[in-house]
Amino acid sequence: MSDHELRVSKIRNGTVIDHVSGGHALNVLSILGIDGSEGLGVSVVMNVPSDRLGLKDVVKVEDRELSQSEVDVISLIAPEATINIIRDFEVVQKNRVDRPESVIGLLSCPNRNCITNDGEPVETKFAVVEDGVRCAYCGTIIRDSLAGHIDPE
Ligand SMILES: [Zn+2]
Repeated sequence: MSDHELRVSKIRNGTVIDHVSGGHALNVLSILGIDGSEGLGVSVVMNVPSDRLGLKDVVKVEDRELSQSEVDVISLIAPEATINIIRDFEVVQKNRVDRPESVIGLLSCPNRNCITNDGEPVETKFAVVEDGVRCAYCGTIIRDSLAGHIDPE
């Protein structure tokens, strides 16, 4: 099975997120805030063989193109991912994700005493560090389950 071959049918318009580390497809959907209730066509393929990753997941979302901030957070859990934007069945853009230096306004801080949890109009900001992300205000580091800290706002 070639790494380039996708096992699900082509989509007309939308985004294909390929080379997601095996088992992380559902975290990618949670980053995108997609739970199926939006009525978007979503295809998920999990744990298929990949030359590069061993096992990979592929996520296809119809009629939705990703914002840069969404791509940034995806890069934290799927650093090898490729983002393909599809229009009229053609790949019009193919991007590798880039680890951002910081993530603003997307994750919530697990520290209840953090100023970002204090009802103040302060946007969360995390610096991306070697083993996770670090809150710019209180220094709390999130290492695992980043997807669980995604701020639904
Ligand atoms: Zn904090």
